[in-house]
Amino acid sequence: MSDSTVEKHDFGAEVGRLLDLVVHALYSEREIFLRELVANAADATDRRRFEALTQPGLALPEQAPVRIAPDKAARTLTITDHGIGMTHDEMLSNLGTIARSGTKAFSESLKSAEAGDKPSLIGQFGVGFYSAFMVADHVEVTSRKAGTDVAWLWASEGRGQFTLAPATRDEAGTTIVLHMKTDADEYLEPARIEAVVRKWADNITIPVMVAGEGEEEDTKANEGTALWARAKSDVTEEQYTEFYRQVAHAWDKPWATVHWRAEGQIEFQALLFIPGMKPFDAVEGDRVSKVRLHVRRMFISDGAELLPPWLRFVQGVVDTEDLPLNVSREMLQATPVLARIRKAVTNRVMTELKTRAKDAEEYAKFWDNFGSVLKEGVWEDNDHRAELAPLLRFKSSTVVGLVTLAEYVERMKPGQEAIYYLAGDNAEALSKSAQLEGFRARGVEVLLLEDQIDAFWPERLATFEEKPIRSVTQGAVDLSKLEAPALEGEVADTEALITALKTALGPLVSDVRTTDRLVESSVVLAAQAGPDLQMQRLLKRAGRDSFGAAPVLEINPRHGLIAAMVARLGAGDSVEEQAHLLFDLARMQDGDLPKDPALFARRVETALMARI
Ligand code: ADP
Ligand code: MG
Repeated sequence: MSDSTVEKHDFGAEVGRLLDLVVHALYSEREIFLRELVANAADATDRRRFEALTQPGLALPEQAPVRIAPDKAARTLTITDHGIGMTHDEMLSNLGTIARSGTKAFSESLKSAEAGDKPSLIGQFGVGFYSAFMVADHVEVTSRKAGTDVAWLWASEGRGQFTLAPATRDEAGTTIVLHMKTDADEYLEPARIEAVVRKWADNITIPVMVAGEGEEEDTKANEGTALWARAKSDVTEEQYTEFYRQVAHAWDKPWATVHWRAEGQIEFQALLFIPGMKPFDAVEGDRVSKVRLHVRRMFISDGAELLPPWLRFVQGVVDTEDLPLNVSREMLQATPVLARIRKAVTNRVMTELKTRAKDAEEYAKFWDNFGSVLKEGVWEDNDHRAELAPLLRFKSSTVVGLVTLAEYVERMKPGQEAIYYLAGDNAEALSKSAQLEGFRARGVEVLLLEDQIDAFWPERLATFEEKPIRSVTQGAVDLSKLEAPALEGEVADTEALITALKTALGPLVSDVRTTDRLVESSVVLAAQAGPDLQMQRLLKRAGRDSFGAAPVLEINPRHGLIAAMVARLGAGDSVEEQAHLLFDLARMQDGDLPKDPALFARRVETALMARI
């Protein structure tokens, strides 16, 4: 081959840093390079099998194992698969850049991870392939994409550059040759290789063969019995955890392991996990379930949406006999079998959550990780909304820890008509909000909601045990039926002041009125009927500025400042400047900025100078 056909490429900047990290930070966990490369080979084989369903020309050869062949004399380790292969461009992007999360998140996690957790970090961040450079100082990948007749050779010493050149390969698939570092001898021993495969890749359903020395035959190193197909009593907790880490690309322990076999009208086996930690992309990533669908052990798809989006944090496998092996993408969309499996799987997960919710402390851990995702179901899923309501947990203005809606209703005061909540960005700040003063004075509990989704779902749920659910910032809250504490201070005659405030503030407010829900503060904002203040804030952030009417300014007629303004007005002086200050103060109490921060600053200066 002439040199002119060899393309030289630089790794993406991220890859360089990553290689450094992988090679140095994970030195003590080197053996997992084999897990990563075997997993890639198995994935590629599964993908080819799936593609072959619609393109028979791509069918796998009868024997399609992943083969690992050490050569002590040449100091190489060769891993071969019959998978889907890669084109020139796929090699360029898959082996030259970082497909998934960046090195920054990776290196940060590395710093905080326990030593024993580091191996699975590699899988989590999709840096799997680069782990080859932990043991090799020169890596060659020859690949031929199934359905094409050209092959390419990717080669690198892992130091900033790689080359791509035309190559030959008899069949479709991929061969990786690792030129081992001098201190990585152990991975040229068949026994050591087998041990590593057994430890990390036992669940891979494709045979993993290790070539023997000299004339010796290949040895099958993995069991390949799908864990989910075994009886529960035959599986240890360690095996469950290891399997979970593989399917979920995680390194924690599952919070819940649900393993069952459904029999009767529809038959399937399922092994599902609820993670013990919040994965990096559980909430912000794609809103689709990645639970894997298998048919008679064979991997079919991780895009079959076996669970609704609001249960997308659930990981695992569902394996059914009730679909044909050659199920196509279109069929996956349409088949009633899958609809029935979905329903059964969703119900089973709900049952698990209901059971586990009885242990408040344990459930709180789950809630902390995935509560905000579950709430999406209340918003969007008519079929499960009512069932989800008892699973919700809240911070509260009167109770430490998390409370349920049922507990809230139990504690409602005589005459209290609604379940009240206050939504914002942070429960800690909400608990000090002026919005709560009147509720606190009357001993009325308010739920403090701090997730984005909280601005949306209460409207959909609407009631719980027939009690309406209401935002304290929405419309005029009527506390008059509740036993009121003896409020101190005289009630000022605010009629003229209200007129003056309306004139001064103009379109900034849609109304000014007195309220009995304030104790210490002089003013507070409320929304006109319609979206509550937090909802308006979120819409505004999303660029929907004109949503919702201007707020209502509520004033506390017992407050000294209001009395002073009434007096000032009575003496014939203007209250225009004070009106704007009050309005901005009310905004700031809710964590918003003044309408015009610079102007606000000038007004405060003027007011202060008058006093000094
Ligand atoms: P991940 O497996 O998490 O996507 P890797 O770094 O392990 O990340 O691999 C990067 C990509 O390279 C894979 O997603 C796949 O597209 C491709 N790849 C790696 N090994 C193989 C292989 N043996 N056959 C085909 N494609 C492969
Ligand atoms: Mg991989």
